[in-house]
Amino acid sequence: MSEALKPCPFCGNKKQAFLKLDKDVYGNFFIRCFWCGAGGRLVSKAINAAYKKTAIAAWNMRKEAAE
Ligand SMILES: [Zn+2]
Repeated sequence: MSEALKPCPFCGNKKQAFLKLDKDVYGNFFIRCFWCGAGGRLVSKAINAAYKKTAIAAWNMRKEAAE
């Protein structure tokens, strides 16, 4: 993956190796944190050719949580 992923908002994992594009049984793609299991927004490959980019953007697009 070319674009860097932000750390997981749930567990704080920063390791890119644990942040990967995953696919559900319906063929929807999303970024998953393989450390805690949290997932980003689902993006359908069938209706969005730029599904990878969209899934990454969805993962990175959020407000930083206040402590
Ligand atoms: Zn996580």
